[in-house]
Amino acid sequence: MRTVYLDNNATTCVAPEVTEAMMPYFTELWGNPSSMHAFGGQVAASVTKARGTVADFIGAERPEEIVFNGCATEGDNHALMGVAATWNGPGTIITSRVEHPAVLGPCLRLREMGHNVIEIGVDGEGRFDLEAYEAALAANPGPKLVSVMWANNETGVIFPIRRIAELGKAAGATVHTDAVQAAGKLPIDVREVPVDLLTLAGHKMHAPKGIGVLYVRRGTRMRPFVIGGHQERGRRGGTENVPYIVGMAKACELAKAALADGSEARIAAMRDRLEAGLLATCPDSRVNGARACRVPNTLNISFEYIEGESVIYLLSDLGICASTGSACAAGSLEPSHVIRAMGVPFTAVHGSIRFSLSRYTTDAEIDYVLKHTPEVVAKMRALSPFVPH
Ligand code: PLP
Repeated sequence: MRTVYLDNNATTCVAPEVTEAMMPYFTELWGNPSSMHAFGGQVAASVTKARGTVADFIGAERPEEIVFNGCATEGDNHALMGVAATWNGPGTIITSRVEHPAVLGPCLRLREMGHNVIEIGVDGEGRFDLEAYEAALAANPGPKLVSVMWANNETGVIFPIRRIAELGKAAGATVHTDAVQAAGKLPIDVREVPVDLLTLAGHKMHAPKGIGVLYVRRGTRMRPFVIGGHQERGRRGGTENVPYIVGMAKACELAKAALADGSEARIAAMRDRLEAGLLATCPDSRVNGARACRVPNTLNISFEYIEGESVIYLLSDLGICASTGSACAAGSLEPSHVIRAMGVPFTAVHGSIRFSLSRYTTDAEIDYVLKHTPEVVAKMRALSPFVPH
């Protein structure tokens, strides 16, 4: 049976060029970059080069502003806990109601520690409430940290991160963005978007799992989160994962080239064809975030009166990989916090499905999904006790 992989917001395949770039660091160049001898030294040079490539990918002024780590969850935790740790007393964290648990989790911990956490809501299309945000900035004069995602993992809705950062900076806040779902899909340039901190994850952009990046703008006050050795200029202890760092840099290089050659327009065209086709062939379906600005690869669609989980299982039997939203929420029967925050009607909340494409997705794969999904939806509807007659 063929596999049609449309779950790229959960994880992506490792690009062959990335695997190739990493291989020598498993077989020959396995030294420790902190070693004094030349064998380790040559590996240190590769880490330095990779740091420069990642800095270039996001427009960072200096390679030293790039901190390699283990995953986006670590980057988000480091940003939130690391900044709050510099405050002398309680401060305010302003975030959104639709963040990934990698941000909402540390926010919960910070609230338990006595800090004030404010979650800004979204409208029915998943758009960030800028007015409420401005009011929150104005109402809280003490130390502040803003943590708002660049693009949402479930709906693909893009937040006005430049404006969010400008307002946050003007109000004296430290500003963090989780750019995991924006990287490789949109140009990211920290010269234009004045965030202090930015999180990336390798495995969402065709590098392996187990490598992430936290961009730390020069002068940002924060404490380490993984405390240990002097690595990463004392910001993140632990021997550097050299093969994965090299792979991350290669993935950034490839993503930059793909953005330049217009592959995102091709992905958007496929996503739009999938969206239009499903809306036309599956009655009582609605696209979540349809009127908002979205990343080109993501379609979140609700099939009313049925359970998203059942649709996913039946699609999986046909070799089609999609998801019901965040993979981290899989296994819980709670509907997605993102879809709920958007006020999606009860009849549609449970039937939301996310299809997420990549530059490896083909038109033939979209045809296959368009052919089979309506049958699956019709089959589930026939069994549903909720369909009005
Ligand atoms: N932030 C966002 C927006 C994500 O989509 C994800 C993963 O789905 C994460 C953070 C966490 O990434 P990881 O599981 O690689 O730490």
